[in-house]
Amino acid sequence: MEHHDLLSGLIRLHVLHHAAEQEIYGQWMIDELAHHGYRLSPGTLYPMLHKMKRDGYLVSHQEREGRTVRKLYTITPKGREGLALAKDRIREFAGEAMHK
Ligand SMILES: [Zn+2]
Repeated sequence: MEHHDLLSGLIRLHVLHHAAEQEIYGQWMIDELAHHGYRLSPGTLYPMLHKMKRDGYLVSHQEREGRTVRKLYTITPKGREGLALAKDRIREFAGEAMHK
């Protein structure tokens, strides 16, 4: 994806936002992000989810659905804290940058 490094923080926040509302899984998140104009491949999203888990923002568990095993992610208290902080900062940034 073009400008991936620049936008990756926003993508992470998007993931946190949805993981705060419901259990999410990789392909669902890829489709959701595509609606917002972020085209991510599994090869980009999955390592991102793993790192967010390692960093304590998400937890995951496996769920079997027929033959497929799906990894479901939900937000942690640290994730909620980070999301709330980021939302404050985004509000502040939008006030400054989108004012004109
Ligand atoms: Zn969304």
